[in-house]
Amino acid sequence: MKNNIYKGAIDYIEKKLEDYNEKPFRKDQIWLWLFKKDATSFDEMTDLPKKLKEKLESDFYIKLPKLIKTIKSEDDKTIKLALRMEDRAIIETVWMKEQNRHTVCISCQAGCKLGCRFCATARIKFKRNLEAYEMISQLLYFKRSNLIDRVVFMGMGEPMFNLTEIEKAIEVITSDYGLTISPKRITISTSGIPHGIVYIADKMPKIGVAISLNSVSEKTRTELMPIARKYPIRELLNAAKYYTDKTGRKITFEYVLISGVNDSRDDARHLLELTREIPCKINIIPYNPIPSARYKKPDSFEIDKFRTYLMSGKATITVRFSKGSEILAGCGQLGAEL
Ligand code: SAH
Ligand code: SF4
Repeated sequence: MKNNIYKGAIDYIEKKLEDYNEKPFRKDQIWLWLFKKDATSFDEMTDLPKKLKEKLESDFYIKLPKLIKTIKSEDDKTIKLALRMEDRAIIETVWMKEQNRHTVCISCQAGCKLGCRFCATARIKFKRNLEAYEMISQLLYFKRSNLIDRVVFMGMGEPMFNLTEIEKAIEVITSDYGLTISPKRITISTSGIPHGIVYIADKMPKIGVAISLNSVSEKTRTELMPIARKYPIRELLNAAKYYTDKTGRKITFEYVLISGVNDSRDDARHLLELTREIPCKINIIPYNPIPSARYKKPDSFEIDKFRTYLMSGKATITVRFSKGSEILAGCGQLGAEL
């Protein structure tokens, strides 16, 4: 039976080349053809010996997941794709253009088990972790017609529960034989799994980390994000401090701002206090409404008020006006249409 070459190229091409009696450097050539030059047939791989091409042809097929939907925003600055994997798991992925930045937001799981109350991904059934080649395939689709200079693991799923595959995907993203994107332009967003943050600090110190803090009250945070019951805010902040000490980089705290839930002056004051010792950016994400949730989107006055409170501290404050919320491609909206 033939296998998917994207999977093979990432997971076990070294072993295959050995079986074929080929030199290890052939791996680099194969990666270049697949990940840089978007080859769609083995025939195109002109610098591979004929014999090797024939072997590859008999063992593998070249196939990306099936594209089942493309939605573009009116200004063409956001594109959302729905892709169907070989086992029929469906995921969504988003490309965004902002000034001169071109970012792809990757999904790392089909669905998410964590059940955050404000997130559309939590409403669909969790299917499974994605494999590294399935994450890379999200980039390969966009790459054919769009620039990519940044990658964020902020799509469907919790990255810290799939770190082994993410690490492999990052190898392709950063490799000169792959997408040649600097690790500094890659960010992993987590609902807040302390040991995952420590792992990144130790093993992938150049990768950016964003923590979805979302509330500074243990009670509210647990109501919004059931996983918070397991990891108290203090533990999370300790992991964040470990990351900034170890890597010398700032960490990002994401804060989904929900009207009347976590947007008071006290919340802002408390947020500044808690993060005072940690070199960080605070990224306010105004809540994007999702079907059948009872939360309210903050209006521009409320957003500005909260931002102004925070500006009195040391942290850099940004507001992420979700790109593509009109096509349900904003933060937390992936899966809403599946
Ligand atoms: N599971 C990871 C990454 C995916 S979610 C995490 O939770 O961090 C990416 C970001 O979108 C998180 O910061 C999350 O808090 C935010 N988000 C989820 N639902 C949202 C919504 N409805 N509106 C705005 N942001 C949302
Ligand atoms: Fe999962 Fe992140 Fe959505 Fe929470 S916000 S349900 S962790 S994808």
